Amino acid sequence: MKIVRMRIEGDEIVYGAVEEEGIRVHLGTPFVAWEPTETLVPFDEARLLAPVFPTKVIGVGRNYADHAAELGNELPEEPLIFVKPATSVIGPGQPIVVPPDSAEVHHEAELAVVVGTVSRHVAAEDVGAHILGYTAANDVTARDLQRRDGSFGRAKGFDTFCPLGPAVETELDPAGLSIRCLVNGDARQDGNTEDMVFGVAELFAFVTRVMTLLPGDVILTGTPSGVGPLAVGDVVQVEIERIGALANPVVAR
Ligand code: ZN
Repeated sequence: MKIVRMRIEGDEIVYGAVEEEGIRVHLGTPFVAWEPTETLVPFDEARLLAPVFPTKVIGVGRNYADHAAELGNELPEEPLIFVKPATSVIGPGQPIVVPPDSAEVHHEAELAVVVGTVSRHVAAEDVGAHILGYTAANDVTARDLQRRDGSFGRAKGFDTFCPLGPAVETELDPAGLSIRCLVNGDARQDGNTEDMVFGVAELFAFVTRVMTLLPGDVILTGTPSGVGPLAVGDVVQVEIERIGALANPVVAR
């Protein structure tokens, strides 16, 4: 099943499930209990938002060997995690805003894990029951500020620096998925999730040894090689096999 979140008449925000003819509006949330309604919204009328509203987004640095190498970094011996604020999240089609503070804003195409239940000290073999599904993400990064600060907080924390979507796919094996990033239609990143250093179960278990994950929280699983700059006026698209395409325009503040 593909789950989306969208704005409907009266500016109400609801969850929906993708069907052949459109998006079935549901009452409630996919985390606790939800129920289909009679309302089917045609695809061209759906105003999609980020498919979940996390309390936090956890990123993982250097989780693909070819990307660690392109930035001149060694592979970490254990996952190198950081936190992106919830306020960095935007949905499909919403603009990535380049701040005047940075002259080098990069795209990073990533598979995103969506947490389904309260998760604390979860063993790797039990992770499956704690995951709602998977979506696409762009871990937008001010590379110049990352180098200058020697830290991720500012470089990855700007408003709009975490596009998510378009849908959460709930029936998906996260191994062996093609993951690509296109800028204005040109392929810039072309990787596969089988090349992750630490897999989804290991990452998820590791994060829950540090912090409690709540329903709707998101773990970004790292980016393959090919990261590069975005310019104002570009449209950047992350494509993940069986999930779909997440496109966002780039604008100046
Ligand atoms: Zn990243």
